[in-house]
This record gives sequence, structure tokens and C-alpha cells, in this order.
Amino acid sequence: QFHKPYQIQDAYPRPEVVDGHDIVIRVAAASFCHTDIMVLEGQFSSLPKQHAGSHEPTGTIVSLGADAAALGFKLGDRIAALGWRGLCGECVDCKGPVDKRYYCRFMKGYVGTTLPGAFSDFTVVDARYAVVLPDTMSFVTAAPLTCAGATVWRAVQSTKAQPGEWIGIVGSGGGLGHLAIQFAVKAGVNVVAVDAREEGLELSRECGAQLVLDARKGDEQLTVAITEAIGDDKIKATIVLSDHETACDTACTITRPHGTVIQVAQPQRVSFHFRAIIFKDLRFEGSLVSGQKELEDMIHFVLEHKIRVKTNIYENLDAVNLVVDAARSGKVSGKLVVVLD
Ligand SMILES: [Zn+2]
Ligand SMILES: [Zn+2]
Repeated sequence: QFHKPYQIQDAYPRPEVVDGHDIVIRVAAASFCHTDIMVLEGQFSSLPKQHAGSHEPTGTIVSLGADAAALGFKLGDRIAALGWRGLCGECVDCKGPVDKRYYCRFMKGYVGTTLPGAFSDFTVVDARYAVVLPDTMSFVTAAPLTCAGATVWRAVQSTKAQPGEWIGIVGSGGGLGHLAIQFAVKAGVNVVAVDAREEGLELSRECGAQLVLDARKGDEQLTVAITEAIGDDKIKATIVLSDHETACDTACTITRPHGTVIQVAQPQRVSFHFRAIIFKDLRFEGSLVSGQKELEDMIHFVLEHKIRVKTNIYENLDAVNLVVDAARSGKVSGKLVVVLD
């Protein structure tokens, strides 16, 4: 039911393998995301009455289809998965580059939004979007990587920044931002982090951003501060993670001429001054999430560079409404993860 707390169902049937790429997992840990609030508020209106949230699943394989087995998955594997399920296999996107096939408009659906999610003892994921976890990575660390991590991993790659170059991140101190900063910094890229909340500024510093600036000072002040600290025209690309109405303008202001602004946040509308793209010749790109190969690369990068994934852990499914309350309060920093197994 929409606009109501989650209800725990005891007799929810264990799902079965229907398609060849289906993998049924016993869920170990699943995290909560802003999108789950949109689901609860009825923004995905065609959902069935019984529906489990969370599109950030991790767990152990308990059954799998033939195509999943052919890809190398086996019973008992510990996996994490992106939410895409049941690509049509026929459309332009499905026949296009592997890392963008999830743009398929004819897929079966998305785990936790249009298909049953991971706040459940068992859930189904698609082998084409699953990754076997290294033994040294916990389910709790992996769950937020399947959405927050996968989202900013792609965005940071899209900046094409080389070691020693500078990028900007607007909205740097949240669940997405704290990972984006670390992904960049650990790859040798310098980061100008911009946030408008004390906790966000603090977290940006902790994550190693070279320059941390308070957006509340206004774009003019930001420009002066950046010039003083690192010089003019240094920021080749800026990632927008804040859905504040001026976030994109700020990104356009701090990015050097001929640079790129990468929009990740999803406000109703994005606006910026025409001068930004015309007189500064900026490129404007949207970025969604990673594909399967990138998810795998990111998981190894996280282990190798000891990336800190900030989490708030809730034991067992009974706590799921506390998670919703915590998310709505806006006071928690880091991803909310429910441990089920
Ligand atoms: Zn998400
Ligand atoms: Zn397709």
C-alpha cells in the first residue's frame, strides 16, 4: 500500500526461476535508497499490492536458470546485483554496447521498483547484472555499491580525468558524494568538493577532497576561492549530485571553458544559464548507473583502495520502517542497510 509503512508478510512465497538469466538469492543485506521513498509515495503507480522495496540486493544463490549457470554462476555463490531484470535482447540497446544495454526500454522491470525487491527473504536478480563478491567483501559493504556506488563510479569515469587533473563535485557530502570523492582521489584525481551542509562539508574533508567549499557562500565567492587555491580554469568536469535548483548553475560556474558538466541528481527540472553552454562551450551529459563490468571493476577498486562505504546498519527486516523514518528525517549520513541473513 502506498503512503503507508511497510508491512511484514510471513507467508510470502519463495520466487522461482522463470527466465534463463534468473538467479534467486537468499537476501543477506539490502540497502534503502531515495528511490524507495518514491516507490512508497506511489510514483510507480502500476505496482501490485504486494511488493517488496529495495533495489540494492546482495545474497547467496539458492537457484538459477540455465543462462545464469552458463555465465559461470553456481549455487552458494555470494553475489551483489544491479536492479535491471529481463532485457528483451532484441532492441537497439540490447544489441548495442554491453555497458549500456540496461537502457533497454522493453525489459521486464527493475528489482524493488517495478518488480519485487530485496526487503524479502528471497528475491530474483538477473545474471547479466550480477557479480560474484570476493570473500573479503561483506554483504553490508556491497549492497550500497549496487546503486550509490554504481551511479557515481560511472560519473567519475565519465569525467575522463587523468591523475593530477581536477574535477568538481557539487553535493559532495552525501551517500553518493562521499563515494565519488574517494573513487576520484584514490585514482589520483584532485577534487573540488562543494556542499551546503556542515555534515556534508565535514564528510567531504574526511574523504580526502583537496579543496572543500561551502555552496552557501554563493558562486562568486566560490570562484574566488577556487582561483586562489588552485588557479583559473583547472576543473575539466563537474559532477552534479545535489538536486538543489542552483546546483547545476554552480557546476557550470566552476567548470573551465570547454569542460563537461555531468548531471546525476534527478530534480524535476535542471536549469543553467545559456552563457554556460554557449559562451563557455560546456558539454552537458546525463549519467545513470554502471553496467555489470563496471560494477565488478568498482568492487575490486573498493577493496584494493580500502574505500570507506558509510553505512548505518539495521538488524533484520522488522527494522525496515525505522529505516524509512531515518531516511525521511534527512539526518542520517551514509547509506541505510538492512541485514536479513
Ligand atoms: Zn538506489
Ligand atoms: Zn532490449
